Amino acid sequence: MTLLIKNGRVIDPLSKLDRYCDILINEGTIVAIDTNIKQQRNIQIVDAQDCIVLPGLVDMHVHFREPGREDVETIAGGSTVAAKSGYTSVCTMPNTNPVIDSQALVRYIKKQAESGPINVHPIAAITKGSLGEELSEMGELIEGGAIAFSDDGKPVLNSTTMRRALEYSRMFNVPIITHAEDSTLSSGGIMNEGNNSIFLGLKGIPKEAEEIMIARDILLARLTKGRLHIAHVSSKGSLDIIAMAKQHSLSVTCETAPHYFSLTDDAIADHLAMAKMNPPLRTEDDRKAIIEGLRTGLIDVIATDHAPHLSHEKMQEIVFAPFGIIGLETAVPLIITILVKENGFDYLQAFEKVTINPCKILGINRGYIKEGAIADITIVNPGKKVIVDNNFIISRCKNTPFLGREFFGLVTHTICNGKIVYPFR
Ligand SMILES: [Zn+2]
Repeated sequence: MTLLIKNGRVIDPLSKLDRYCDILINEGTIVAIDTNIKQQRNIQIVDAQDCIVLPGLVDMHVHFREPGREDVETIAGGSTVAAKSGYTSVCTMPNTNPVIDSQALVRYIKKQAESGPINVHPIAAITKGSLGEELSEMGELIEGGAIAFSDDGKPVLNSTTMRRALEYSRMFNVPIITHAEDSTLSSGGIMNEGNNSIFLGLKGIPKEAEEIMIARDILLARLTKGRLHIAHVSSKGSLDIIAMAKQHSLSVTCETAPHYFSLTDDAIADHLAMAKMNPPLRTEDDRKAIIEGLRTGLIDVIATDHAPHLSHEKMQEIVFAPFGIIGLETAVPLIITILVKENGFDYLQAFEKVTINPCKILGINRGYIKEGAIADITIVNPGKKVIVDNNFIISRCKNTPFLGREFFGLVTHTICNGKIVYPFR
């Protein structure tokens, strides 16, 4: 099968390529990148007029609900949503039921992913059952296909356990992804602690719950020379601490999620549980700091923390509703609208966070456009508007505070391993 992408503006953050040219794909591989590649016969043409042509997007933080809650989202179903959203690779968090803490379960995820359209990389648990006590068998899990470790959803409260995990991360050269939350401080909290939580009478989560844990984990990374990746950074204070770690050349990287550069805790009054997430939405100062952190490169990655919940679960009273929102389908629209259009990011700067940067952290050989590379490619029309409504969202779960909003940035094509996986056939 031969594919020719024509007339697009090709953006490759790794090589800093930003130029109008065509891309020829044969048997799953990029074979030519050039201006005006001749159209041979029996070739499928993809017209990328008015579009940017990007390396296939990578999301290093999604929660598909299989095993355990296939009624909410399956691995194949989540992968389909990801393909529609422009993603060609995702990493699944292990906080399913059961928790992904054995080689058999890692292999199960990979097996289930085979019936989906894109690449799925399992992240395995740091501790058995993510209970924070006994370390999982990291070597065996890596052998099964795990590419990183996290007890996401929960912190590893015990510092000695985290120390050991980081020591192993160095040995195996894989990142430990920390869900940084001092749950003794955040316990029972619903939203960011501040004026809005006082006004709404809801128990707050101080940003210090996040910052204290980030500081601890950075100190443990210094002690062990282990590889630390900090998930879903939401506060300015967290970034100040991470900046110090990077100045000292520690092996520390971090991610934020689109909602932290798009919304503040003002959204809780309007959207209630639909804007309830952990860590919580913060203040305008924090949001601005997140945007600047992305601009300077202090923040390495944008990951969605895609967390589907059924509507009857999410529509409970805010105190009882689960944390988390879906994130895949709104990611490109928010990156284009908030970062590129409103804050003047160039495409290279914005999209390195969802292509080459996560690939470097995870050791995935993807995320760039080059002759000879596997053809994972995403095509986006940045001038085209999308309305986030029930037609646009194909996820079974519609738990998002962006419902009804209009953004720029339509994913027109997703090509994975040389095959068009979106639009669906
Ligand atoms: Zn988390």
